[in-house]
Amino acid sequence: MTHSSLPGYFGPLFAVFLFVLGLCVGSFLNVVIARVPLDQSIVRPGSRCPKCGHVLSWYENIPLLSWLALRARCRGCGAPISARYPMVELLTGLLYFACLRRFGWSYELVPALVLVSLLVPLAFIDLDHWILPLSMTVSGMLAGIMLAIPLGTEALRDALIGAAVGFLSFRLMEYVGWKVFQREALGAGDKYLVAMLGAFLSWRALLGILLFASMQGAVVGIVMLLLTGRAGPRAEEAEPETPEGEVPPLTMTWEFTQPGLPFWKRLLLVPVCLLVQPIPDAPLDEEGEEEEWIPERTSIPFGPWLALAGLELLLLGPWLARILPPDIAMMLGAVP
Ligand SMILES: [Zn+2]
Repeated sequence: MTHSSLPGYFGPLFAVFLFVLGLCVGSFLNVVIARVPLDQSIVRPGSRCPKCGHVLSWYENIPLLSWLALRARCRGCGAPISARYPMVELLTGLLYFACLRRFGWSYELVPALVLVSLLVPLAFIDLDHWILPLSMTVSGMLAGIMLAIPLGTEALRDALIGAAVGFLSFRLMEYVGWKVFQREALGAGDKYLVAMLGAFLSWRALLGILLFASMQGAVVGIVMLLLTGRAGPRAEEAEPETPEGEVPPLTMTWEFTQPGLPFWKRLLLVPVCLLVQPIPDAPLDEEGEEEEWIPERTSIPFGPWLALAGLELLLLGPWLARILPPDIAMMLGAVP
């Protein structure tokens, strides 16, 4: 794989182009982070100030520069604009650049950029709302499998096994945690994120992802607990409720518990339920309704840590393979 088959002076030019593309994608990811968890359209309406509704014109919407030029204030009402907007843009730009450094101008750059563009918003959504939207993780998993096709049958097989093993292993941990400890050890959305990571990075990376995510999450969680009294962020708002009578997405238990369901159908649903049924997030109250889950002081959202571990294995593989003993590097899925 040649890292630059382009004439010398074009290389830096295209690298700058990719960085700027990353900034623009990051600007769009800010919209995704703000709207997807609230089930709002990411296309319409255009960006506006969350305080006063002031519609942003094109020159107020330029990644990084607008935030600097506006001195972090809305032009309509003067409300401060969070530094997180330019931060997400810059982060995405830098990660795009890092992907180029890692893969060069090869086909592998495409799935890498797609994975980055999924992991950045998923991490921030989980930090804000303690959820990982299925619309992003499940379609991300499918994208990971599709993007492996041009890499050949072996890559496709690794992606399929990665998605299946990632999902099933976390599903099993979730099930055991619920049976043994009678409580939720993992967020219900985590297994879909791990399936997505397995699809993009193959099953070989799964053990490394699990290890890196738990170790870093535990260390930072403990430090945060000592410093701020909380291991994770506070839940700012309740999740949007499913309207009455409507089937919540992917909840087989809903159908399973309906009275008057024929016995054979119930029997058929058992294996399906075991696989896809979300484990109740919270104990049920007297009316059998799920109580709203509120993160405890020691709760840590796992999604951001899984995303970070995925990025580390994606981008630092060759470096890890160099510094770690070969056996351990192979076990962690660090490919040279
Ligand atoms: Zn405003």
